[in-house]
Amino acid sequence: MDQQELAHILIILVGLLRAVGIASIVALIFLGARIRFIFLTAILTVGGIFTTVLSFLLGILSFTHAVVYELFAIGSIMGMLYYAYKDKKSAPPPKPSENTRCAFCSALIRENRDYFVLKCEDQYLFFDSEEHMKEFLKNIEEQRKFRKLDIGKPECYYSKTNGKWIQLKQEEVRVQETD
Ligand SMILES: [Zn+2]
Repeated sequence: MDQQELAHILIILVGLLRAVGIASIVALIFLGARIRFIFLTAILTVGGIFTTVLSFLLGILSFTHAVVYELFAIGSIMGMLYYAYKDKKSAPPPKPSENTRCAFCSALIRENRDYFVLKCEDQYLFFDSEEHMKEFLKNIEEQRKFRKLDIGKPECYYSKTNGKWIQLKQEEVRVQETD
């Protein structure tokens, strides 16, 4: 590949890197990702622009090296975006407050004991036991009306002791999806 071709590729790549970098930073902020991911993305993006400047204006870096860096930076940002998304998904739910009660029996949730958190889209429901969560799920439509809950579709639940999110099985979710 001659220098002119490489220069063209470099211009396209640096434009792409800028777009990917800015879009990723916006996505990461929106996702509420850890600050380190946002910081690294910004560094990689600025680094990419700087690398191109070095090779074009100052001739310090060869075009080949600059192209390799842009590709590396774009790949790293995409990988980081995926990692940050996974990291966010596995992050524990918010801790119960002093007044958080079981959504089924209204017992107070104790932070030092095991409890279960049901995630319904962007809401969290706390339960003092797995049985109460399952009971709640069994009659979720009645619970919704009875307690005037405005909740989305249950997706997964978290057990404090296990420290893991568990996907709900199809038969455990009996929400009418008509609305
Ligand atoms: Zn309960």
